[in-house]
Formats: sequence, structure tokens, C-alpha cells
Amino acid sequence: MSCGCTPSGPSRRRALTGLVGMSCLAGLPLTAMGRTAAKIRASQPTADEGVRMLMEGNKRFISGEMNPHDFNAMRKQLVDSQAPFAIILRCADSRVSPEIVFDQGIGDIFVCAVAGNIPTPEIVASMEYSIAVLGSPLIVVMGHSSCGAVDAAIKNFDSLDDLPGSLPGLIGEILPAVINTKGEEGDVLDNTIRENVRLAMKRLPKMSDIIQEAHAKGSLKIIGGVYELGTGQFVPVEG
Ligand SMILES: [Zn+2]
Repeated sequence: MSCGCTPSGPSRRRALTGLVGMSCLAGLPLTAMGRTAAKIRASQPTADEGVRMLMEGNKRFISGEMNPHDFNAMRKQLVDSQAPFAIILRCADSRVSPEIVFDQGIGDIFVCAVAGNIPTPEIVASMEYSIAVLGSPLIVVMGHSSCGAVDAAIKNFDSLDDLPGSLPGLIGEILPAVINTKGEEGDVLDNTIRENVRLAMKRLPKMSDIIQEAHAKGSLKIIGGVYELGTGQFVPVEG
């Protein structure tokens, strides 16, 4: 998110729910965005339908029988509005591409990416926009196998500050998953990746009134899973 117009402080939630302050995200006048969002909400899939759409898309991806996508037509249809039915928090890893993995088109998924798929304040603010303005009913926390960020948290658990640049701050966010899975049977990295997904699912409502309220009243569902690089399968993780 580089537009630099995210509201902050006490006015943040009011600004989002009042559709004030982030219109530059889609390059639209604010009033046009608000009208579009209202119209879109009436036709959004439910969260459960969204889950089904993603899982069926993942099956198509694995089988190699993906839907034909007319990206030129999609791009033209979506110039003035967007209605993503799912928000996906994914790792920045170059091998994890939600639109491809779930066989979806342009405008279907609101993708938030950061190494280790952790819910930073900027990620949460982006999700709030998609929920409050675009009416998205579903958040998916998407971990993946062989995650380098999680592996770095395991390997540098006692020497975080030895990591270069800004990495100690980011990798430090994954340490709770390392702590929670210590001593568990099975593969340490796989266990920690799953726990990191679970913790993100739990943290999201605690980090945002908008997410918490939408989740509590049932207009927003939060799920998680691990994308297996080798098989292409998205394997759900229970919260
Ligand atoms: Zn990763």
C-alpha cells in the first residue's frame, strides 16, 4: 500500500466505515467508490460460497484443468470498481500466487503479502479497507510449505539480532509460533508453519475493531491453510 493516505489514530475506524480517506487506492472519487461498494455488497458471494470457489479453483489448479480467463475483458470490466470476495494474507514468497493457486480472475482476490504471512498493522489496515469499503466476506490466511521466513524464526530463535537489516522485527513476529510448537511431534518447520497460520487467524480480530465486529456478527469468516509447494494443494488448518 503505497498511496500514503491511510487514516490513523481515533478517526481510523470512523474514516473507513464512512468511506473516507482511502479512495486513492482504486483511483476513484470517493463517492463513486461508496456507490460501487453498496451495489457490490448485494451481489457478493457468502463466505462459505467463497471458500467453495477457492477450493474448487485449487482442485482445477492441481489437475491442470484451469478455467479459461479472458484477462483483457476482465481488466476492462473492472476499471471503475472491484468486488473481491476473498482477502488473502499470503507470504511474499514468489512461489505462492493466490490467483493462480485458486484459479481466480482479476478482481476476485484482495491480496495482502508479507514474508511469513503475519498480520502487521499495514496488512490489517488493508484488510479493513476490503471489508468496510468493498464488502469482502472472507479472510484466508495462507501459509506455505518450506517457508523461509518461518525457517529463519526457528533457526535464529536465540540470535534474532544477527539477522540483517529490518529482518529481526519481522521474523520476531513469528517467534510465538516457534514457542508454541516446541516439543511437538512431527516436522518442526511444518508444525511451526501451521501454528503461525493459526496465530494469525486468532490475532486478526484482536488487532481490528472492524474485523472483530464483522466476525462477531457473522458477515466475515476467517479461515487458514497451508499451500503445499510440491502438490499445489491448499490444506486447511483448523483455528
Ligand atoms: Zn514464506
